[in-house]
Amino acid sequence: MFASDPSKNIAIPKLPKEIEFLSDIALNLWWTWNPRGKNLFKLINPYLWKESSHNPIKMLNALSQEDIAALTEDETFMKEYQYVHALFRDYMQDSRVYAEEEPLPVAYFCAEYGLHHSVPIYSGGLGFLAGDILKESSDMGLPLVGIGFMYAQGYVRQVIGSDGWQNGTNETIDKDNAPIERVLDENGNHFTIQVPFIDPPVYTSVWKINVGRVTLYLLDTDVEQNDPWDRGISSHLYVPDMNQRLRQQIVLGIGGYRVLEELGIKYSILHLNEGHPAFALFERVRSFIEDEKMSLEEAIEKVKETSVFTTHTPLQAATDVYSFDMMSNYFRDYWQRLGLSKDQFFSFGINPDAPNAGFNMTVLGLKMCHQRNAVSKKHSEVTKEIWKDVFAMDDKENVPIEYVTNGVHIPTWLSDELTRTYDKVLGEQWQHLEDEEAVWSRVEEIEAEKIWNMHYTNKVRLVNFVRERVRQKWSNEGIDPLVAMAEGVMLDPDILTIGFARRMTSYKRPNLILHDLERLEKIVNNSDRPVQIIFTGKAHPSDNPGKKMIQNIFKVAQNPRFKGRIAFIEDYGEEVAKYLVRGVDVWLNNPKIPMEACGTSGMKASLNGTLHFSGLDGWWPEGYTGENGWKIGEETSDDSRDANAIYDTLENEIVPLFYRTGKESFPKAWAEKMKKAIMSISPHFSARRMMKDYLEMFYVPISKKIKE
Ligand SMILES: *Cc1c(COP(=O)(O)O)cnc(C)c1O
Repeated sequence: MFASDPSKNIAIPKLPKEIEFLSDIALNLWWTWNPRGKNLFKLINPYLWKESSHNPIKMLNALSQEDIAALTEDETFMKEYQYVHALFRDYMQDSRVYAEEEPLPVAYFCAEYGLHHSVPIYSGGLGFLAGDILKESSDMGLPLVGIGFMYAQGYVRQVIGSDGWQNGTNETIDKDNAPIERVLDENGNHFTIQVPFIDPPVYTSVWKINVGRVTLYLLDTDVEQNDPWDRGISSHLYVPDMNQRLRQQIVLGIGGYRVLEELGIKYSILHLNEGHPAFALFERVRSFIEDEKMSLEEAIEKVKETSVFTTHTPLQAATDVYSFDMMSNYFRDYWQRLGLSKDQFFSFGINPDAPNAGFNMTVLGLKMCHQRNAVSKKHSEVTKEIWKDVFAMDDKENVPIEYVTNGVHIPTWLSDELTRTYDKVLGEQWQHLEDEEAVWSRVEEIEAEKIWNMHYTNKVRLVNFVRERVRQKWSNEGIDPLVAMAEGVMLDPDILTIGFARRMTSYKRPNLILHDLERLEKIVNNSDRPVQIIFTGKAHPSDNPGKKMIQNIFKVAQNPRFKGRIAFIEDYGEEVAKYLVRGVDVWLNNPKIPMEACGTSGMKASLNGTLHFSGLDGWWPEGYTGENGWKIGEETSDDSRDANAIYDTLENEIVPLFYRTGKESFPKAWAEKMKKAIMSISPHFSARRMMKDYLEMFYVPISKKIKE
């Protein structure tokens, strides 16, 4: 009934007074990382909760007024509602301070955010990092706002055909059935601005998502004022057409900057996550010149001093580069307005290693921000090497790029079982102290059998989840039995289980473990000590080699020779990731070194006690102690050598440890190793530690400088 009424900022039924705050809870993603919050919605109607894909707005809209009225009569529900509301209120009003000094407000720009499956506006790791940064900033009460896109078709649902070939369908977001709100202007209309400097004009409206105490503003060009081509600017992530992609990044950087200004949102620090939003830097220069009457030189200097740029790529080729002609089309008037010549303007984006290639967004970020960071120690070495010419240095040592190793938002990724156990064992304050080794050292006190039993519960959940999905497909679509087998119906929770879940692309080498099928077969089919492997991940729609790798895995999975012990799970996303990081025994990661900038899925696994088995790339050289997981091979990559290293470690260490049960009815030594992983990895690879690094290295020093 509220659908498409632009004067309503949300589409949600009117709730009785007794439960009026249920809509506040539903419209704040806080509940997604609080077990009691999740449970509250499940209590309303477990069937609809599942049907709505855990989207409280969709579920509430599916209830009749009678159903809603009945809730107020339900004593169990009302008690839980009041309790959860009290928790929520307490969280929103918390005034704990985590930084030595409160930083000035930060505007955080990113092209994607991975928050929850009810808001599918992400494609992968970059988005989950940004999502975890917003959640952690909320937990820490940091003054930060996010800017991104409300992609109408943000999510590519992966469907694997019976031939193993990946097909994708773009899912359209029903904006009136998602936990998002329209931002309204003073007349009660959907707030919309004209993006500066695009001719003919492009308009963008603005949505918001509450992420605890942090607000994420999302731009949407799908508005009536725009012609169809412009409406599509924000329809997909990273559109392949370079001209449209440039327009997308102008809307994100310049439009996003303008939106914050027009909404009156004050911030002093600009943080750009990757090069996509880097045009915001120019808009910041313009606003300093025109609104604060600075000279061009002063404005540029101030932008450099107050902006942070984070790079995530280990390859120059993976950055966005726009031809000078294309840039001139859009920026000709702009550089004049800034008082720059064409050459001066382009100099900010020229890569000395490829000066004629065009305007490089990463170079812009590196040149216009004095605070620059890579996302792991190892990645900073690579980053310094590939960009040293931007800083006119022969030797990478002094290249001014630091690193802040990524971390993960613990309440989001930790299983409910472990959360409840930690509440008892680590002390009530543990979530406030989650980057402290001393707090985690108390995991030692948890009995190995208890850790194992919690893990086993999650393993059974994973297997049931996989089988249930195949059952649905089997009964709804009548799929080929061989497809059902390849998708995991034969999985067994008692078998040592390896998970491989990530983007299916060449440098991640998803096929590496299939390198020697004879040898793998012996490992998988060892009659006393069998092994199963679960693969999942999407190939980029235009990445045919990636799709071929999926097809290859799917064929192997269908081969009776592997007895249904190799499976490929369709449609990897946040929900599948949660089941997997908690439910498999071993998390396999074998990228071509040094191509993995950081990697975060292994952190999510480790904090749940899922043991990381990885090449020494990304974060693993910082995380690996010799006791909390395993390494693969050397610091460089050779397929054959690395595959053999995987088989050797499996045969000699991993399989024997898992099946060495001794007198106990569970793998005790394994469970002890799980505890070591949890204790050594959780504090250091938490989003709390990461945000404290950003605070100490960048946000607080910048704030001090501004206040001087
Ligand atoms: C954490 C996560 C990622 C990023 O993990 P990597 O280790 O960088 O591959 C990607 N996709 C999903 C769904 C995730 O949860």
